[in-house]
Amino acid sequence: MSIPKTFTEARKAIAAGTTVRQLVEAALAEAERRKDLNAFLELFPESALAKADEVDAKLKAGKAGALAGMLVSIKDNICYKGHRVGASSRILEGFTSLYSATVVDRLLAADAVIIGRTNCDEFAMGSSNENSAYGLVKNPVDTTKVPGGSSGGAAASVAAGIVHVALGSDTGGSIRQPASFTGTVGFKPTYGRVSRYGLIAFASSFDQIGPFAHDLDDTTAVYSVIAGSDAHDSTTSRTPNDPIALSDPGKLRIGYFREGLERAGMDPEVVAHLQAQIDRLRNEGHTVEPVEVPLLDHQVPTYYILATAEASSNLARFDGIHFGHRSASAKGVEETYRLSRSEGFGPEVKRRILLGTFVLSSGYYDAYYAKAQRVRRILRDRTLEAFERYDLLIGPTCPSTAFAPGEITNPVAMYLQDIFTVQANLVGAPAISLPTGTHSNGLPFGVQLMAKPFDEARLLAAAKTLFLA
Ligand code: GLN
Repeated sequence: MSIPKTFTEARKAIAAGTTVRQLVEAALAEAERRKDLNAFLELFPESALAKADEVDAKLKAGKAGALAGMLVSIKDNICYKGHRVGASSRILEGFTSLYSATVVDRLLAADAVIIGRTNCDEFAMGSSNENSAYGLVKNPVDTTKVPGGSSGGAAASVAAGIVHVALGSDTGGSIRQPASFTGTVGFKPTYGRVSRYGLIAFASSFDQIGPFAHDLDDTTAVYSVIAGSDAHDSTTSRTPNDPIALSDPGKLRIGYFREGLERAGMDPEVVAHLQAQIDRLRNEGHTVEPVEVPLLDHQVPTYYILATAEASSNLARFDGIHFGHRSASAKGVEETYRLSRSEGFGPEVKRRILLGTFVLSSGYYDAYYAKAQRVRRILRDRTLEAFERYDLLIGPTCPSTAFAPGEITNPVAMYLQDIFTVQANLVGAPAISLPTGTHSNGLPFGVQLMAKPFDEARLLAAAKTLFLA
């Protein structure tokens, strides 16, 4: 049986007599067949098939939830009770979740089926999935290329047609950049919209869980289920999570980042595509005007100072005593900390911990951490000002299409992958990457739309009506 590409199609198949068990068996078989991608670190056949049977029974009884039969994968930093989770790190080798993330509980309550956990950059730090302790993920569109990162396995699991939706996490672009590289939709909601309870923390003031999918209907269906306040996460907002209609939002005021288009290092085809989109939107009667990107050259440094500072604090708990890997050769507490962390963390994670500890150290705190906080505030204020004039901001998701493993070796060059994505995280705004472009090299790429915080309804409606109808 072939797997229906979208949940909308799966529902039709179910209405025509396909069982959820058949869908789940097909997804598990397809994941096995595409083992070469290394998208999944582990499949969950037992719990997935048990859930499938439960959903089939509920469907028969007319009691099934809104996502009945949706095939989902979860990134390896999202906890699912009784299942292994490891943030693709050796330091969590053998660790089993003691509880489920709120997003997992909500998916299961709505009768989605979780097929397995997906590979990612270690602790979600990276832009190519090359930092995983469990090896590269191949881009299903072109297996000689990376799928992007850090949610590379998540993106690949959707792009390869194994699941309808993947949950990833986005701290500085880790949903949107892999979506752009694999030709999928990738959506980061407003900070505070989706509970982070049960998400292994990287940078707590930036992290947000969100979906990959093939279209806006599936994106919206899963977003509507996972979003909303949660007593387990005090940073979730009480802003009502109203039903989303995906209807025509009318004529919009759209700002675009001219500076982003004129920047050195931009792929000319990515620029030309965005220009064509702008012209088309104008012809359709929308107001599209250039806006200055606030502090563009400061965004990536600000992000990397704040995100590494938060990471150095969040990752202190992995000490060889509380969780996961403990060095076999260590004697005494101090040596246990030192050797377990030295053996358990990979090079990029160590780099981030060192950098974060440095920017927080007493002699440098004001020069780096405190200053970056001030820059973040200015950036937020200026971006919110732009949203007084514009309903949406549009720009490229990434400067280029997917690259080959090993092609970017300089960490700073890798960090610059995030040039267009970190703004939404620094500001807390919702943003989405839409697969609208195909390069002459055959690879897909996306455009990014950003809306003001908590304006997901308009963002998703505009994404569908203006770009993927
Ligand atoms: N590429 C960015 C980083 O390495 C973003 C990661 C993410 O969003 N999790 O920090």
